[in-house]
Amino acid sequence: MSDVIIVGAGTGGLSVARELSKNPDVNITIIEKGPKTTPGESYKFYDPWDKNELELIKTTCVGGSSLVIAGNYVPALVDELKEFDIDITPQLKQLEEEIQIQTMPKSHEGKINKLLADAARELGLEMQPMPKGINPEKCIICGKCAWGCPNGAKWSSLEDLKVAQSNGAKLITDEGVINLIVEDNKIKGVVTDKANTYYADVVVLAAGGIVTPKLLRIAGIKAGETLAVDPFVTIGGYYKGAQQDNEIQMNKFIKLPHIVIASHTSQFLLPKIQETHPDATSDDIISFMVKVPDNTKGYVYANEVVKGIDFEDASLIARGCGIAASILVKAGADIESISSTHVRGAHLISSARIGDIVDSNLETEIENLYVGDGCVLPEAPGLPPIYTILALSRRLGQYLAQKL
Ligand SMILES: Cc1cc2nc3c(=O)[nH]c(=O)nc-3n(C[C@H](O)[C@H](O)[C@H](O)COP(=O)(O)OP(=O)(O)OC[C@H]3O[C@@H](n4cnc5c(N)ncnc54)[C@H](O)[C@@H]3O)c2cc1C
Repeated sequence: MSDVIIVGAGTGGLSVARELSKNPDVNITIIEKGPKTTPGESYKFYDPWDKNELELIKTTCVGGSSLVIAGNYVPALVDELKEFDIDITPQLKQLEEEIQIQTMPKSHEGKINKLLADAARELGLEMQPMPKGINPEKCIICGKCAWGCPNGAKWSSLEDLKVAQSNGAKLITDEGVINLIVEDNKIKGVVTDKANTYYADVVVLAAGGIVTPKLLRIAGIKAGETLAVDPFVTIGGYYKGAQQDNEIQMNKFIKLPHIVIASHTSQFLLPKIQETHPDATSDDIISFMVKVPDNTKGYVYANEVVKGIDFEDASLIARGCGIAASILVKAGADIESISSTHVRGAHLISSARIGDIVDSNLETEIENLYVGDGCVLPEAPGLPPIYTILALSRRLGQYLAQKL
């Protein structure tokens, strides 16, 4: 029997656990800092903004960020990964079937989504439907995808947890890993914030884009120097009775060179819109997300994360906002009310990249220490990364299942 510890019961960690648990000769222990929750309650576990220049958005709970995603599934970096001898097409196919990835039917389009698509078309831009991991039959079109999907229509990594646990994997919650035990350049185990030590033959780090590189740095590996987050803003204006926040978020998008514009709402816009329309409520906002691919110039140090945007990012975001504002005004938004949120990032990736920090099997320079989360992406795709993260981590689980 081999003992494997997976650090982090999030998107990548649970995907590794699911595939690895198919080998009956492996004892899996998943150690998760956050609590177990339901999808509908998961919005309570967003981490507070640490007032970094950018707001970096993530959750700490079982299921990780998979619980609060907009449900977008776009294959990204498939060709780039082939340069590292990694072919994720079998895992993408497997996931397409398991998650039932599809675009939402017309019945789920939403009044404002349609209005924005029509306005974009008039300006010569076509909005494409976003591939979603949402079951249309269960979806009640409440717009609460990023709150965790109270009706359970959206796929989340809790599905992977069910499979792993039914195959015998153990889950420890409310206990964070703070140190790694390494002897003779081999991983031996982990230490937690409850002063417990857990020994293992193999450790897979999957604590997300910020914590995984911190743990690697503690073990002497210089990770964390290429953090990417795909910066975005939400830009919107006043439109009486829009109720866009009740529609499926990011149901349609426009892909321009280096810019994605997708239908999306944010409560951060309300105080800004109230400057021109003091009576406006959250029902009166019409808005878009403008997202650009990141340049991996963020740093994760032991006690600090440094992440801003540079001139290139700012000019791309400005260009995207110009285009988004034109569509919003065409759709009927009051031009004087058009405002933007602060810059945020929800794809915390690439901070322990394949080629720099891990090899093509996602193993680090410390023997039997692997990385199984979004940190390993070799670059920021500027597209939803979860499909690729899940494929890479399923591939790692399958590789370890065979190796052990
Ligand atoms: C609001 C929002 C919407 C998004 N929408 C989309 C979308 O529609 N499509 C898409 O492709 N991507 C989306 N993303 C991005 C996507 O969710 C993430 O890129 C992906 O889930 C990251 O997976 P991960 O395994 O790297 O990290 P996570 O899923 O964050 O997993 C990390 C896990 O480690 C745990 N952990 C942290 N520290 C410790 C510790 N010390 N010890 C033990 N455990 C620890 C965390 O609690 C968490 O469970 C969205 C992200 C957010 C925040």
